[in-house]
Amino acid sequence: AQSRSYAIPTSEKVAKFKGQKGNDGKYTVTLIEGDGIGPEISQSVKDIYTAAGVPIKWESVDVTPRLKDGKTVIPDEAIDSVTRNFVALKGPLATPVGKGHVSLNLTLRRTFNLFANVRPCKSIAGYKTPYDNVDTVLIRENTEGEYSGIEHVVVDGVVQSIKLITREASERVLRFAFQHAQEIGRNKVRAVHKATIMKMSDGLFLNIAREIAKDFPNVEFDAELLDNTCLKMVTDPVPYNDKVLVMPNLYGDILSDMCAGLIGGLGLTPSGNIGSECSIFEAVHGSAPDIAGKGLANPTALLLSSIMMLQHMGLTDYADKIQNAIFKVLAEGKTITGDLGGKASTSQYAEAVMKAL
Ligand code: NAD
Repeated sequence: AQSRSYAIPTSEKVAKFKGQKGNDGKYTVTLIEGDGIGPEISQSVKDIYTAAGVPIKWESVDVTPRLKDGKTVIPDEAIDSVTRNFVALKGPLATPVGKGHVSLNLTLRRTFNLFANVRPCKSIAGYKTPYDNVDTVLIRENTEGEYSGIEHVVVDGVVQSIKLITREASERVLRFAFQHAQEIGRNKVRAVHKATIMKMSDGLFLNIAREIAKDFPNVEFDAELLDNTCLKMVTDPVPYNDKVLVMPNLYGDILSDMCAGLIGGLGLTPSGNIGSECSIFEAVHGSAPDIAGKGLANPTALLLSSIMMLQHMGLTDYADKIQNAIFKVLAEGKTITGDLGGKASTSQYAEAVMKAL
């Protein structure tokens, strides 16, 4: 049952493409190793996949932005690779701070129209946190809301940032949430909102949620105010274990990190960015420049993201095999990395997982 939370709908309507199998029976998957600790944790994934005999060939691409016609863009080779392979695994990308720098993560989401961000958070046996029974699944609208990037100065000292909510994007993510709930065996969907204050924008999102709910008579639907959700979740997360939560972009960004906190932080949480044409799976944490190149990074989040990816591709036997090995090593607690209180290096941890396969 451990793997169910990480399952992704196989519905044709949502993500059409599950990866491309070659004549040799192997799937080619784009690998964006990323910055900082990215290459180290990617190496662990590659080593463990080889040991587990997963039929995947990695196509590594560089997404370092380039200047094209005066604009900073992702290299065509990277875009072509993801478009061709439909599925990608991505390490963390550093976002330079300051004006004029575009977030590569945002650019990737926009380029491939990755409209739903799926964030499961499940307590990991052996890793002590205030709660040991968290099993939340949160879906965040990934393309608009406060992240639309529409900001302007009205007059000196007054700025406006537009929160954009559209029927199209809301319908897409809400329908996906209901499908996802059914796929992972949860029969409750809860929309999280602030329609009491954001009457028009969240009001539209909520109304659409109610409409879509009618198409899913076997799934219970209700709604909850975001502040209430936060309060209740940190007080007792268990009532959320049977639901899929779905919400606009900013709320999902914040609440999903709060859920990650409940299971021990970002080092353990996977995510999937789902589009109708392709999907990119990535760890939630950043490039950890403070520990990069030192062999200290914990590859678990990237590994769990890759397990979501295997589920998405229908390679569930391999997903279960690797996930069980990870959970076994973490539960034993003998060969774990520094962020979890252990002394193992990235490669020692990866070796322990390989032995547990
Ligand atoms: P971070 O997640 O990189 O690091 C926060 C802390 O957590 C650090 O102490 C780090 O050492 C630790 N940490 C993170 N991942 C770890 C792992 N796998 N194993 C062990 N320890 C881990 O956050 P930050 O420092 O705020 O950001 C650094 C850079 O990453 C920034 O450029 C930021 O924009 C970028 N970032 C990228 C993504 C992404 O690609 N999705 C997400 C968040 C941040």
